[in-house]
Amino acid sequence: MTNRIKTKQIFVGNVAVGGDAPITVQSMTFSKTSDVAATLEQINRLYFAGCDIVRVSVPDEESANALKAIKAASPLPIVADIHFNYRLALIAAESVDCIRINPGNIGDKTRIAQVVSACKERNIPIRIGVNSGSLEEAIEARYGHSAEAMKQSALYHIRLLEDLDFTAIKVSMKASDAARTIEAYSLLRPLVEYPFHLGLTEAGSTFHATIKSSIALGSLLIDGIGDTMRVSITGELEEEIKVARAILHDSGRQKDGVNIIACPTCARLESDLRSALAAVEERTKNIKAPLNLSVMGCAVNALGEAKHADAAIAFGKKSGLVIVRGEIVGKYPENELVDRFIQEVEKLAG
Ligand code: SF4
Repeated sequence: MTNRIKTKQIFVGNVAVGGDAPITVQSMTFSKTSDVAATLEQINRLYFAGCDIVRVSVPDEESANALKAIKAASPLPIVADIHFNYRLALIAAESVDCIRINPGNIGDKTRIAQVVSACKERNIPIRIGVNSGSLEEAIEARYGHSAEAMKQSALYHIRLLEDLDFTAIKVSMKASDAARTIEAYSLLRPLVEYPFHLGLTEAGSTFHATIKSSIALGSLLIDGIGDTMRVSITGELEEEIKVARAILHDSGRQKDGVNIIACPTCARLESDLRSALAAVEERTKNIKAPLNLSVMGCAVNALGEAKHADAAIAFGKKSGLVIVRGEIVGKYPENELVDRFIQEVEKLAG
């Protein structure tokens, strides 16, 4: 695995992004932002699911005016997502922790300067969010819908901010497919020092979004690219966080939490491994300690895997062994096995 590429550090509220800060997980509410109660309800759900930063859309003035109350009660830093309308950005900049806006899309330089000045005044960053579906006409005419076009678009917006001496920037370049997303981020990475927000756009249902995001975000993370990320899913908010944390964990960029391996089962199995695995996953999902757990169906591979695990179950016939760091703790009937295993895991977690 490549060392993580060090970027300039910025702050979104009290959350550091870039530099040597941990890679953060973001999501986005889907309520009407003007509905403060509904938006806060979703933000709280994301907070309890393990989200670090939340983005809200600001499509109109009513939404922009609601940001102050949302910010005051939010447990998470808020990013205001604005397209085209610099006046909404000026209202948002009074209360939120970051503005997502593409400076090239908000009109002449005076407007850009006003937004930059409002962000400088409150010391908040701007996220440039390039989307492969809405590139600038001239760039699209020259480069088509390619990764190069996404890179050129990002550079165009970055230069507009740099010309105004503004460098508290993070950048996303989202396509709806993994290959272009990987290429776009990889092309831009050597050219700027700003932190990158990784993600795909319109990734789809939980099934498809999980696969596409695992390929794209996982590849980039393993290559050392990425400072913050969102997995976009057409589904439940909590799913986005769960998948994002799993990608971070399985790409080796997040050490916290349990890593569970389990055998696929075969004709040698003589117990209900699937139920046991589901129970272990559910009962360890909030553990923060970095633990490797193994749930295996028979002695063929279980004892070998158990040597590398902090805690392991090795099923036998309607019973199983609980093994902790290579030592057998005991043999238990199937109906007691998970409880005894969880007791040992909780002891290890401290
Ligand atoms: S551990 Fe045992 S039950 Fe599980 S797949 Fe391997 S041989 Fe089959």
